[in-house]
Amino acid sequence: MKKLIILPLLLFTCISLGQTSQKIYDIIDSVSAKRIEKDIQTLVNFGTRNTFSDTISNTRGIGAARRWIKSEFESISKNCNNCLDVFYQKDFVTKEGNRRVPHDAWVVNVVAIQKGTKYPNRYIIMSGDIDSRASDTMDFTTDAPGANDNASGMAGTIEAARVLSNYQFESSIVYVGLSGEEQGLFGGSGLAKYAKENNWDVIGVLNNDMIGNIKGVDGVIDNRTFRIFSEPVPANETERERQLRRFYGGEVDGISRQLARYVHKTVKTYMPEMNPMMVYRLDRFGRGGHHRPFNDLGFAGIRIMEAHENYNQQHQDIREENGIKYGDVIEHVNFEYAKKLTAVNAINMASLASAPPAPKNVAIGGIVEPSAKFKWDKVEGAFGYKIYWRDTTSPTWDYSRYVGDVSEFTLEGIVIDNFFFGIAAVGKDGFESPVVFPNKVFR
Ligand SMILES: [Zn+2]
Repeated sequence: MKKLIILPLLLFTCISLGQTSQKIYDIIDSVSAKRIEKDIQTLVNFGTRNTFSDTISNTRGIGAARRWIKSEFESISKNCNNCLDVFYQKDFVTKEGNRRVPHDAWVVNVVAIQKGTKYPNRYIIMSGDIDSRASDTMDFTTDAPGANDNASGMAGTIEAARVLSNYQFESSIVYVGLSGEEQGLFGGSGLAKYAKENNWDVIGVLNNDMIGNIKGVDGVIDNRTFRIFSEPVPANETERERQLRRFYGGEVDGISRQLARYVHKTVKTYMPEMNPMMVYRLDRFGRGGHHRPFNDLGFAGIRIMEAHENYNQQHQDIREENGIKYGDVIEHVNFEYAKKLTAVNAINMASLASAPPAPKNVAIGGIVEPSAKFKWDKVEGAFGYKIYWRDTTSPTWDYSRYVGDVSEFTLEGIVIDNFFFGIAAVGKDGFESPVVFPNKVFR
């Protein structure tokens, strides 16, 4: 008799999982390379978007650029029954004490929030940058088209809003254009602080910075591979957390790294033509990006970007020298590739915003025992939980077991010493939270 009861439930789950993946494929298909091209062209046409450039003109400078971005978000909102809250979030920066600030100015971010239906205070954030720079970052008048750096990320963010605003999600999605990146990550710092002050429960930040170049300065042409940068453990962890890691592990299992693994897995599942490349570091060697200020405050955040950069086309005045053409002009942007990376963001935000919150107080036990044991606090909205594990040398969660709607479980015959473990919450449609690395030990 028992089977008869289980069968319809299984059938229901399969049907609902089928619809789930169809929705993800629909989102991928809806992203438009044409619209991304048009938006990058519009941004380039503002001449320079240096954070300290003209704010009065309607055709040139960062003021015109941010007003256009705001109006674009507003028209997207009109098409979805006002589903976006659009506003400026700004902070004042001064020349004094800032080596790369030519004059006092407002650093203005453009924010659009699609409120979640069930968890409005949980936020997944996608960012691009409004600002651009010439060879000299203090030079706010020379043309700085910034087509790839970072009109590509900005256009991708606007396009993701167009696509995802056709759906409703349980958690909130934030689409944001940040400013002041090139002079000191000011816009990201401002919004991170704003999120903290407003008690946002931040699921994670997907910072998109240069998502349109496929021809590397190294000569490699590759329209499949992209990089996911993530710091190993939170920058603001306590000394005690650092000490405990020596005994319990977790050197490569911070919250940003779990977010990176989440994106990696989602892409491998739904966009098999792409090669997501996790890079185990905060950012490129010695360089920065707008996910960092969020990381500084303890939020999960990663950088998504092209795999092959061309340094002749970044932070360069437009010119020709010794037969080499310098400048970040639109001719070098591959819109199909930018479309793919935009889809990467969109499907991950759709998944995260459809998933229940991650389990809390995840504890692990099993010292000198034949089996690994787990306990966790259940979360509202979870249909069940999945235990993940992997060899200690593997970058990805290679093994998993769905264990149903329980709050403890023993993995028989799996010795705690030889693997790393984590637990994710699973929603009724199969969408999963990021994996939580255990933060407690029990005996
Ligand atoms: Zn840059």
